[in-house]
Parts: sequence; C-alpha cells; structure tokens
Amino acid sequence: MRQWHIPTFRLKMYFCKPILVCKRMDSKTLISQLEETQILSKQEFADLIARHTEDDAQFLFERARVVRERYFGKSVYLRGLIEISNYCANDCYYCGIRRSNDTADRYRLTEEDILACCEEGYQLGFRTFVMQGGEDAHFTDEVLVHLIRNIKSRFPDCAITLSLGERAKERYQKLFDAGADRYLLRHETANAQHYAQLHPAWMSHARRIQCLWDLKEIGYQVGTGFMVGTPFQTPELLAEDMLFIKELQPQMVGIGPFVPHHATPFANETGGTVEQTLFMLGLLRLMMPQLLLPSTTALGTIDKTGREKGLMAGANVVMPNLSPVSVRKKYDLYDNKICTGDESAQCVNCLGVRIASTGYRIEESRGDAPGWDNRQ
Ligand code: SF4
Repeated sequence: MRQWHIPTFRLKMYFCKPILVCKRMDSKTLISQLEETQILSKQEFADLIARHTEDDAQFLFERARVVRERYFGKSVYLRGLIEISNYCANDCYYCGIRRSNDTADRYRLTEEDILACCEEGYQLGFRTFVMQGGEDAHFTDEVLVHLIRNIKSRFPDCAITLSLGERAKERYQKLFDAGADRYLLRHETANAQHYAQLHPAWMSHARRIQCLWDLKEIGYQVGTGFMVGTPFQTPELLAEDMLFIKELQPQMVGIGPFVPHHATPFANETGGTVEQTLFMLGLLRLMMPQLLLPSTTALGTIDKTGREKGLMAGANVVMPNLSPVSVRKKYDLYDNKICTGDESAQCVNCLGVRIASTGYRIEESRGDAPGWDNRQ
C-alpha cells in the first residue's frame, strides 16, 4: 500500500510531526474492494481510472470474468438491431445523423420492412429485437403501438427493446402497454455542465435524466450508458457516471468509445481508446455483477478484435445488425462503422465464430436481466 503525503503539509514535516497523512490505496486493492463492496467513492473511482497500469487492467478483467461467469456462465445474449430511421430532431455535437448534418442520406423503414427484419432475425435465432432510431416525428405513438402489437402477435416469445430517444412519461407508458419490454436511453454524461458541452443549449440534461427515472417507474427493463473519451471528459466525470449508474440501477449499460464523425462539430477531436473502454466495462461488471453489458460495434470499429476484447473484459451481450443492407451505411453515427455491407446471416455467423474464439457461446433466448419477471 502506497503512502500519499499531501504536499501542503510536507514543509511542516521539517519542523514538527506530520499533521495529516492520507493513505491512497493502490489500484489492485481498489479493484478488490470494488468487487467486495460493489461501490467506491467518486475519488477512488477517479484515481483508479486515471492511474491504473496495464497489469491492473488485466487483474480487473480476470475478476470481471469470474463475476460475469458466476451469473451468466459462458452465455452471450444476442440482440437483433433494427435501425428504423436516421431522421432526428436533435443535434448532438458528436452524432453523424444530427439534424444539422445536411449531407446525411435520410431514410425510414416501413412497418413491412421492420417485420421482414424480425422474420429474418427470428429464423436466425434472435429472441430480442432492438428498434433504434433518431427522434423522428413520423414514429408517433399510434405508429409504434401498431408496430409493437404486430411484432408481439407474430413473435410472442420475443422481447422488444426500443431506443428512440426522449418522450413524455405517458407516451412511454403507451408503448409499454402495447408490449415493449425494454428501453435504451444513454444518459451520455451524468454531469450537467459536461452535457452542455456535448449538446446545444436547448437540449436538457435534466429532462434526459427524468426520462430514465420515468422508464424505470413504468416497469421497463432500462438501459443507459455513455461514450468513453468524449471531448472534455475527465476521470472525475467518468466517476460521476459510475455513481449515477449505481443510483439508477439499470438492467443494461451500453458503453463504447467516442468515434468522431467527419460532418460534426467534433470532427477533429480525438476518439476514445479501446483500453479506456475495456477498463470501464470491467469496472461496471464489478460494480453491478448482474448487468447486461454489450460489447459494442463501436469497439469493433476502432479495433478489429474489439468486441472479443469486450467479452473478455466482462461484457455479455452482442447486437448484430438486422437492418436491411440497403440502409446500413446511412445509419452513420460515426466514421468507419463496421458491419454495413454484410447480410444479417453473415453478421451472425461472423460473430458466432468470434465469440467461440473467446470460449463463450451464443445463447438463443430473450436474455432478460437475471431474476426479471417478464410479463409473459
Ligand atoms: S445521438 Fe441520438 S438524439 Fe443525438 S442526434 Fe444522434 S440520433 Fe439524434
């Protein structure tokens, strides 16, 4: 254990006994403490994030795998991602389909298109469909309720996850009543000031956080998350993200590296790294052992074996793309996104091989959060 003397007091040591000596725990001790107590203080998280070595990271990943296998064995859950629209009313500075990007080639899928994706996904073994899109006014409550009911009647053994942005609580309620099981809404950052650096002034951090609490109250399985390495992010801000997630107690947390998009205000910013992202995945696994943690496409984009590394750092979910190949390139959130040219079956086969190489295996089930009492 390393002793840390606060410099202000160092001078006094020449003249008298030291007045204050702070002890700073080394990284491995903090990791073990996190595994045992499932929480650290903000300062401890920030220290760990800022100061860990490669050796500490390997220790974290080993512990994360032990914890993950205690609850999930070797299973990796599949989610079929259907990108239903790239129209968006919002203007997040980091996003390639933000409304100010005039070069984006816009599309939206019809109900027929989406059902065809589900049909194909079902044949391939998917039992969760994630409908993701920008905040597109075309997808009114009525349109979505009709779609959700239709999917549920054709595929009653499947879970429906929505990732369609912010809505009023009563609107989330309608979609839940129609049969939606889960909702993903990344909080992006737990810090309001940081949120204001990533979004235009008219986008509200408070409203976003309120949406997450509303979703929980309604009874959705809730997913949140953030990007690692966004502009202005610090270890202290990441520590705040950890504490917010602990407080919210979501069932799923999606994190991936920030990858700049050429047609956004952050085009020239530096992206997040694989190392930082994997470390945060490992910390999340120890803090909340039963989390559903995807190994994201963004990880696979900045590192050819990023998704395998994510699984080895504690992740237990993968989300292959079921969107029609004709629109995949258009759902262009960040540059060089992978898996935009392959048919769904190719994506699944490719991921199956990758997962097998890690010693884990795909499980064909809804993959609800442990202990979740689903409405079926
Ligand atoms: S991140 Fe989401 S809400 Fe923001 S502009 Fe992109 S699609 Fe819209």
